[in-house]
Amino acid sequence: MEWACLDLLNSDSRGCTDRSRDDDLLDDPRWLEGFLSRWGFQAAGSPDAGARASLGALRSLLRRIVMSFSAGEGVSARDLARLNEFLEASPAVQRIREVEGGYAAEYVPLRRDWAWVCAEIAREFAREMEHGEPSRFKMCANPACRWFFYDESRNRSRRWCARDCGNLVKVREFRARRRAAPASSPDPTVPPGPTRGTPPGETRH
Ligand SMILES: [Zn+2]
Repeated sequence: MEWACLDLLNSDSRGCTDRSRDDDLLDDPRWLEGFLSRWGFQAAGSPDAGARASLGALRSLLRRIVMSFSAGEGVSARDLARLNEFLEASPAVQRIREVEGGYAAEYVPLRRDWAWVCAEIAREFAREMEHGEPSRFKMCANPACRWFFYDESRNRSRRWCARDCGNLVKVREFRARRRAAPASSPDPTVPPGPTRGTPPGETRH
């Protein structure tokens, strides 16, 4: 399943040196344009500074909420109130209309502006809080990646994004242990034999 909220969460890659980019994508007009068209929000038009600030604030809020669900905690009353501020900033009406073979009940936003974009993203997350399992939103355990993903594994045990981060972290930990260990004392975690000294994950390259 595709999530606009994950796209927004992953737009901040500052300090994430294991990703292809290491910056804030909200500052990149081309990325923002792509974001709008990916999620059907083109009607909002070009973002101004206020729109970027709102998206940034929503991103920080969602990140905090995801982390609190990950930690097994509920959302704080303050964050719930903030989520409501984003939802309430976009007024909508309901109506029913005739469609082929029946009727469709609709929820129609009164304005399709940037407040609407933020409200739609907030609503996507809020619906998962209502009907789904928000604790399945997770951040990659690689501190140099921090990619957000939705864990669809049966036992919800996934810790890493899909970029081989688990292996990358194991290799780094292995190297750090080797550097820390005195040269004369053999590392008990390394099996003896011809593979000795080859970090895990590098044997296949
Ligand atoms: Zn990762």
